[in-house]
Amino acid sequence: MQKTPVVTIIGSINMDLITTCSRIPEQGETIIGERFETAPGGKGANQAIAAARLGADVNFIGRTGEDYIGRELFAYLEESRIAGLYVKTVPGVSTGTASILLTNDDNRIIVAAGANAYVTPDYIDQHLDILKQSDVVLMAFEIPPETIIHTAQKCREYELPLIINPAPALNMPEELWEMADYITPNEKEAAQLFTAAEEKIQQKLITTLGAKGAQWREGDLIKSHPGFNSRVQDTTGAGDTFNGAFAMMTAKGKSIEEAVAFANAAASISVEKMGAQTGMPAYEEVQKKMM
Ligand code: ATP
Repeated sequence: MQKTPVVTIIGSINMDLITTCSRIPEQGETIIGERFETAPGGKGANQAIAAARLGADVNFIGRTGEDYIGRELFAYLEESRIAGLYVKTVPGVSTGTASILLTNDDNRIIVAAGANAYVTPDYIDQHLDILKQSDVVLMAFEIPPETIIHTAQKCREYELPLIINPAPALNMPEELWEMADYITPNEKEAAQLFTAAEEKIQQKLITTLGAKGAQWREGDLIKSHPGFNSRVQDTTGAGDTFNGAFAMMTAKGKSIEEAVAFANAAASISVEKMGAQTGMPAYEEVQKKMM
């Protein structure tokens, strides 16, 4: 029997606090909103849940605060078939949140990192045994930059395949891009970070193109997979589903071509439901979509 792939994700975990309103309030103004809802989020947790739903053994390394939000998010991760939860609370600190104001034609978002800022290099060093057992490691940019660099160095030391999802787009030292095996920006992040990047970095890019799928380079050739049609409801979390799925396929030893096709199919299913995590598919659903 094939071994279950082990994906380790180091990243953020947030609660999204979403208020829907008819318009954005002016300075000093209070208005009555239409609806309020909460939804588990954070790129790290989203990616972990995407990979776990697809059947990977997922280790998630992150931090929550000492509050009811953190307890709720932890319980949700536990229910989500994450194999190894390495999430310690940070005393006296709040859990990460994204406060979202949503109108018909606009959104305003404030992210408060809270406990995510305590995913430090030291915290990673407390989990090196777990890191060493991974078939692949995936990190996005909602945790401190020094932690990302430190973890990448450890991945190189242990010869672990490393996927960097540079979201949100942050300028990082060249050294980081050199240590990554795959870099997975969306089009906007690619334009912000890599237009002038060296050839050897360009070769590592797998750029997601929304409804148009994703593209990458093979030598001088630009290769692409066109993506799959879907009845779009909400594209939040599409990128995270792509990354979780791509990581799972890489952990299985699949080629870029196979991993991108599978990740496109998984992400195209995720956009058919509201919310980042609700629509993330199981393995069989993705296989069906690819037939
Ligand atoms: P988001 O921020 O919305 O989570 P993103 O900006 O990080 O996404 P995108 O390039 O927009 O990333 O989308 C990631 C992947 O999701 C795409 O490569 C594609 O596979 C899938 N996808 C996104 N939008 C659509 C769509 N409208 N129809 C089908 N697939 C989609």
